[in-house]
Amino acid sequence: MVRDTWLDLVHGGCCVGCGRAGRSLCRACAARLPTRGRPTRPTPCPPGLVACSTAGEYDGLLRALVLAHKEQAVLALAGPLAGCLAVALEPFLDPAGRAPVRTLLVPVPSPRHVVRGRGHDPVLRVARRAAARLRRTSGGVVEVAPLLTTRLPVADQAGLDSGARRRNREGTLAVRPGPRAALARTGVPVRVLVVDDVLTTGATVREAQRALEVSGVPVAGVATVAATRRRLPVRAE
Ligand SMILES: [Zn+2]
Repeated sequence: MVRDTWLDLVHGGCCVGCGRAGRSLCRACAARLPTRGRPTRPTPCPPGLVACSTAGEYDGLLRALVLAHKEQAVLALAGPLAGCLAVALEPFLDPAGRAPVRTLLVPVPSPRHVVRGRGHDPVLRVARRAAARLRRTSGGVVEVAPLLTTRLPVADQAGLDSGARRRNREGTLAVRPGPRAALARTGVPVRVLVVDDVLTTGATVREAQRALEVSGVPVAGVATVAATRRRLPVRAE
């Protein structure tokens, strides 16, 4: 909390949504955050990608929240972002009354040097807060399992089309052996959901799904805080 306050002071202590002095997210802007998840699909979609759900479009307020938390470490925004991730996850959870299974949220990892450079792991932080929120609201067993690790350096994704991003990504994530063994030992049915901040081309989450599946961990879905809207029309061929 002290750290949050300090960082907010460093970053000017104003709302990332509207610039009003005070909290890093004012009440009026917080009230504009999405309250329901919705299905989404990258266009074009990587073959075989599981169902994806998001809280909203990666634009305006959501984009400002994601960037200020990730790049400027405005950690006070982890709560509101976790709220968005939680609503994106809700469609995958059990309806009331159904026997619950254990839900594991698997964050998409950032390369270690990126985490070091930022001083924090934004997706992991938001996933933990979202899991805590869903445990409270659903009463179910929702945990974060950082099963994935980066295996190879990933070239900068900016400027690459979706096919190039997929090739760039293939083989870059792997399941850490320790957690996988622990998962196998539990013997309880689990639902594994991949979580990330932004769904763009889907290449990254598809790679996360691939890495989990080749390790014998089926993936039930992907949930993200936000998703980019298709910017270019798909040409009819
Ligand atoms: Zn505001």
